[in-house]
Amino acid sequence: MSELLNLPWHEAKTAATARELVDASLCAIDERNPALNAFLHVARDAAGGMPVAVKDNIVTTGMPTTCASRILGSFVSPFDATAVARLRQSGCSIVGKTNLDEFAMGSSTEHSAFGTARNPWDPTRVPGGSSGGSAVAVAARMVPAALGSETGGSVRQPAALCGVVGLKPTYGRISRNGLVAFGSSVDQIGILTKTVRECAELLGVIAGPDPLDSTSSFAPVDDYAADLDAGIRGLRFGVVREAVSQLEGEVRANFDDALAVLRGAGAVIEEVSVPTIGYAIAVYYIVANAEASANLSRFDGIRYGHRSARAKTIREVYFESRGEGFGDEVKRRIMLGTFALSSGYYDAYYGRAQAVRARLRADFDAAFARFDYLLTPTTPEAAFAIGAKTDDPLAMYLSDIFTAPANLVGIPAIAVPSGFWRGKLPLSLQIMGPRFSERALFRAASAFERETGYWRELPPVCT
Ligand code: GLN
Repeated sequence: MSELLNLPWHEAKTAATARELVDASLCAIDERNPALNAFLHVARDAAGGMPVAVKDNIVTTGMPTTCASRILGSFVSPFDATAVARLRQSGCSIVGKTNLDEFAMGSSTEHSAFGTARNPWDPTRVPGGSSGGSAVAVAARMVPAALGSETGGSVRQPAALCGVVGLKPTYGRISRNGLVAFGSSVDQIGILTKTVRECAELLGVIAGPDPLDSTSSFAPVDDYAADLDAGIRGLRFGVVREAVSQLEGEVRANFDDALAVLRGAGAVIEEVSVPTIGYAIAVYYIVANAEASANLSRFDGIRYGHRSARAKTIREVYFESRGEGFGDEVKRRIMLGTFALSSGYYDAYYGRAQAVRARLRADFDAAFARFDYLLTPTTPEAAFAIGAKTDDPLAMYLSDIFTAPANLVGIPAIAVPSGFWRGKLPLSLQIMGPRFSERALFRAASAFERETGYWRELPPVCT
């Protein structure tokens, strides 16, 4: 029965009933999740439909939303996120909530308060993060699709390390209503699937304006799957020089192979400079943490979740509840963000970062005046060992070096499997496009997928 989950969705749904598909998913979760810890909650009573897993920082009725934090350990939302409501309306069934770095802060899922998720290609390694559970759920064929969230790469980076497709849409393309806020000017819900077509079809279901999110866009929702077979002959791809000059060894060879595949399919490929891209990580960690420090002030022991049993005064309710409820990485972010926003430092850090962000946007606009797409690898390396970076936050932060720019600039970007490091750990190609170019992104990603077919390879747990 679990073979059903190896099929692309348009084939699976003609091969079985909605009930059988959800049963296949629940069965695969029972079999594979104990070793991988991708799910924090499984909806055993899920109705029939296309099984979809949802990152546990996106609210859902009828099941918990913990953000992988002790402070929300027992929180159940009274409403569905808009993206979740649209999934349910279109006949999808939410089969569970997936593991993440606490409040989506991390690149490995090791910062979860409920234990790390594990990479199905090698369970001694991280799946990436912060949407690690969603990437594992798709890669280990427990579900055909999952929602994740992106602030600086949290869909694309785990998609890359687990060998699946990951989309970060244009800022505003998908409603953020019901996505627990981290960095409001960079946050966006994203989609993880095994194939490009499944991703394009799901975006069509959940994209579009929403009166409950004033930053959602009125740009018309495209037919995202319309150009999947159109090919890329004559389309122009810019290779970001500043990113690629840092590559080494097998990651570089894999990226060069990917360029050869695109060239073989008729693409025009040239180098392009994006001079400020090297500042993206610094800008991202100031902007995202500043916004996080404001957003997380609502978790105060009064309105949501955990309240300390030791607190006797109002001051102690705040201090003890937050002290007990938040993990170390979240506390680090709140302190960094509060510092960057404090009077006397605001101009030097936050103001400066926003100015550089504007320069970065201008650099991308200039590059897109000459190219339809920009290319980098999705990550600088394959999945690293569990524990390898937990004592070195700066090394962990560098995992987002190629992904964070798209969030700061608000453009869409897709990660698509590009082969294997030493024949066993997935690597990934990142394709970026101008704002609202998702349909064109799927076209290019689909051409690459057709030429390479890596999505057919299964991790050891599935064979
Ligand atoms: N890894 C980045 C961070 O830790 C990005 C996280 C995300 O995209 N949610 O902030």
